[in-house]
Amino acid sequence: MNKSDSCLMEISMNRNGFHLSPEPDTADIVIFNTCSVRNHAENRAIARMKSARGLPGGRDKLVICAGCMAQRIGKELIANGTADIAAGPYQSPRIGEFVAAWLTDHRKRTFLSQEIADFSDRINEDRALERDPADWHEWVTITHGCENFCSYCIVPHVRGKLISVSSGKILSYIRDLTARGVTEITLLGQNVNQYGMDCGEIPFFRLLEKTASIEGLNRINFLTSHPKDFSNDIISVIKDHRTISRAIHLPLQSGSDRILTLMNRGYLMKDYRGIIDVIAAELDDFSLSTDLIVGFPGETVDEYRETLRAVETLQFDEAYTYAYSPRSGTAAFDLPETITPDEKRDRLAELIEVQRNISRTKLEGRIDRTEEMIIEAISKKSSRDVVGKTFLNHPVVLPGVPEDIGKIIRVRITGLKGATLYGERTA
Ligand code: SF4
Repeated sequence: MNKSDSCLMEISMNRNGFHLSPEPDTADIVIFNTCSVRNHAENRAIARMKSARGLPGGRDKLVICAGCMAQRIGKELIANGTADIAAGPYQSPRIGEFVAAWLTDHRKRTFLSQEIADFSDRINEDRALERDPADWHEWVTITHGCENFCSYCIVPHVRGKLISVSSGKILSYIRDLTARGVTEITLLGQNVNQYGMDCGEIPFFRLLEKTASIEGLNRINFLTSHPKDFSNDIISVIKDHRTISRAIHLPLQSGSDRILTLMNRGYLMKDYRGIIDVIAAELDDFSLSTDLIVGFPGETVDEYRETLRAVETLQFDEAYTYAYSPRSGTAAFDLPETITPDEKRDRLAELIEVQRNISRTKLEGRIDRTEEMIIEAISKKSSRDVVGKTFLNHPVVLPGVPEDIGKIIRVRITGLKGATLYGERTA
């Protein structure tokens, strides 16, 4: 979602006469698009904003805090001088206007975010659907906000309630994109499976089906799903349309039913396993990734081991793993923390190691297979190589040229180094 918001900011800045600087050193204006999900991310963002002042000409730089952190603590950042402008996530499409006005007008430190109570008025659908500058791929925001209130999560507090963009606008926007050469899209929302539930729109699986019927798309991704709303209808639509990615991201968060309940996730392990069983029965090839939190308040050693066991039995291709980070304003913030930072760190390290071995084994299983992939960029390590992702979202490096970027090709996987597959073109 932040990548998408950054694209909107870039468009807005360009339109108002500003241009992207190659380096922060040479920029007159530095925008930090921030995340509030973990304390550590916020501390790093604050440190970087402060260090921007120390760059050459730093005292004269305009420092802007954008995104969720601006919404959460923007007033504080303005009051203590960390930022000159704090602009919450829904100001992204208008940031260029604010900056232009700030420079020509008052130059007073400003908090531009809205109050939570104003969030229902915040969506300008046309702006939310504006085109980003990438060539073949486009982010398409289908919902804003989230009202699941998982007990550890700050998102509903900073992005407000669920608002679905109308399906008519989404589909005509995607048609426009394909007419202009876009061949891959990612449907975006905090919980895309809840699409339409706020307003009587068509359900997510229908939106996915209608998107898949649009000519010209090579690949359709969607992020993020929630197990409590991931219906069999979604799996059937994926099965019926080869253009829909088989890389399924389904955040589990914990392998313990008690912790899942405390997290207010709305499903138990048997429900999650049930979804994976249906996916495995219906799709001939798929990859599965997840998010996991260790050290939630009160998590016992046995409950942590249930998460480890879930990882071992479910065999995720990839897992994004985190130590629980208390966020003021969330329900879990009031629960007494029973796990020390060292214990959290040890649990996380062990979990990462277990998952790393599983990921490696799964990647090794792709060697000698022929897969379809989309080339995304020139390799940072060699200008004679290109990188891209397979239909299962595995990164692959192979020889190529800049003209390959955005193309869909067939590749035979020949080897594995670290977490990257290597391959060669094949017919
Ligand atoms: S579904 Fe839960 S974890 Fe995801 S954004 Fe909403 S509240 Fe946060």
